[in-house]
Amino acid sequence: MKVPLLDLKAQYSAIKGDIETAIAEVLDTQQFILGPKVEQCESRIAAYSACAYGIGVSSGSDALLACLMAENIGAGDEVITTPYTFFATAGAIARVGATPVFVDINPATYNIDTAQIAAKITKKTRAIIPVHLYGQMADMAPIMQMAEGHKMIVIEDAAQAIGAEHNGKRAGSIGHYGCFSFFPSKNLGAAGDGGMIVTNDAGRAQKLRILRNHGSEPKYFHKVVGSNFRLDAIQAAIVTVKLRYLDSWTAGRQRNAKKYEQLFADAKLPVITPLVVTDRHIFNQYVIRVSRRNELQAYLHGKGIGTEIYYPVPLHLQECFAYLGYAPGALPESEGAAKDTMALPIYPELAPQQLEYVVDCVRAFMTAISSAGGRDNELQEAPRR
Ligand SMILES: *Cc1c(COP(=O)(O)O)cnc(C)c1O
Repeated sequence: MKVPLLDLKAQYSAIKGDIETAIAEVLDTQQFILGPKVEQCESRIAAYSACAYGIGVSSGSDALLACLMAENIGAGDEVITTPYTFFATAGAIARVGATPVFVDINPATYNIDTAQIAAKITKKTRAIIPVHLYGQMADMAPIMQMAEGHKMIVIEDAAQAIGAEHNGKRAGSIGHYGCFSFFPSKNLGAAGDGGMIVTNDAGRAQKLRILRNHGSEPKYFHKVVGSNFRLDAIQAAIVTVKLRYLDSWTAGRQRNAKKYEQLFADAKLPVITPLVVTDRHIFNQYVIRVSRRNELQAYLHGKGIGTEIYYPVPLHLQECFAYLGYAPGALPESEGAAKDTMALPIYPELAPQQLEYVVDCVRAFMTAISSAGGRDNELQEAPRR
């Protein structure tokens, strides 16, 4: 049996007609840059995220970058974030010339450990970028409290968490800004790159609209330097169509997560499954924690099961951040998670038999290593990466 990590063709075949119609509408109008399709997408995503304003941008990475630019954060400023995230989170901070300050994660949720933030706040700290990793929200209440006390900006990196909710609040609606990504593997994916910033602040929304269009306001008059961070009209049209299905896809991911949870519990395996602390976890990824992770991944690969490691090297140990001076061991929980975690297929169209097969294969691997002290034949046949 084949169980890919993600199968976007299954999703597309169910909504092909709608998508083709939406693309054809853009082609018929030949309005490719901003315009009504982008505005419609912005208002729908803003409403979905319980925010007043949406600003369509070129990617989740550019969403983060534009927010930092809108706050004039740059050289000499520090921005606190997690090292256990996709590179873009810290890349945006470095890109504006500010210094990323990494705070370790809570190993139970893989999100930033809010108890460790206060010790990292200095006079130079201008902002915090919490990441809602894998679809589960970071603990926002203490973050907002600290931000208020120290006049810091909060930019939620909600790239993996559109529609996630906690204490009645949607991801992206709590901080000064929320950033979404429409990268195809996100829960709401475009047919290419795209992103959105949401905010409840009219002034910030206005500033972002100008920044994403080269700081031009009115046309050809530039008070600030921005860039081309615009969301494509075709991508906006596609995202708007797909948004109608998002809740049903999320329900499918949640159903699959529940099934995995049950199967792993029944199998009594030494597998740490995701701890759900958010009211609405949208399961962009289903990440388990095991010992001998790399061997298990190779074994599953040999059985036709796709997996991924998010993320093998925490950001504080990336070569490009060597100048920040973090040594191995500096942020032990992030380093431990990077070593032991692995994402299993969780996309909504998976059949129950596929999930059962995944857990059966994990069980077979673990039985083999425990009965053979780790030198089982079957393991040696597993492909090496
Ligand atoms: C995907 C992602 C981004 C970047 O989004 P792009 O649209 O690919 O630029 C940023 N942060 C996190 C946590 C992500 O998962």
